[in-house]
Amino acid sequence: MSELNLILLGPPGAGKGTQADRLRDDFGLPHIATGDILRAQVAEGTELGKKAKGFMDAGELVPDEVIIGMIIERLGEGDARDGFLLDGFPRNDQQADALAEALRALDRRLNAVLLVDVPDEDVVRRLAGRRVCVKNPSHIYHVDFDPPKHEGVCDQDGARLIQREDDREETIRRRLEVYHHQTEPLIAYYDRAGLLRRIDGTRDAEEVHDHVRATVATLRLEEKL
Ligand SMILES: [Zn+2]
Repeated sequence: MSELNLILLGPPGAGKGTQADRLRDDFGLPHIATGDILRAQVAEGTELGKKAKGFMDAGELVPDEVIIGMIIERLGEGDARDGFLLDGFPRNDQQADALAEALRALDRRLNAVLLVDVPDEDVVRRLAGRRVCVKNPSHIYHVDFDPPKHEGVCDQDGARLIQREDDREETIRRRLEVYHHQTEPLIAYYDRAGLLRRIDGTRDAEEVHDHVRATVATLRLEEKL
């Protein structure tokens, strides 16, 4: 049985979560979001969770080996046997090396890295235009793409619409700066390794999904040859 072990990369606002959900539906690949695993393990007070919490409480970054330990544990669950979609890790070359080594020890390897590419200006436009209802945060609008009937007012309950702190342009630009600083060397790293697959993320979610699905289907065929 061929595995599909994938990493998902892309800037904030690239719609990675949406694409990950669809890949799970299309190919049965579990979405392993390292931020979610970390939070869950800390909340459950597992051994690795306790270790991580110690660093977090001290205001320190959780070391790579703790995160990798969580990923490796997660990969041991049944649904990840035929492959996985890793999101949020690695973030730099050293972490990529450490992950490759940990996978090798499991007799597994990465098959590809999917980069959902979206230019900064598009990210800013997508995120900075978002408005959220103060009464119900699941009521979400966009000033350009999905505006409410009356500016600043929720269509569903008449409550006020606000821009979240995370969606402010300065905040987004700062996150993008961090993203580029961290991720560009990683993109080059995986490009050199011949693993990088670029997906044009500027098109609508449906088209991006078609491209992702075609790319993954091709990978699966190649693995079977
Ligand atoms: Zn509302």
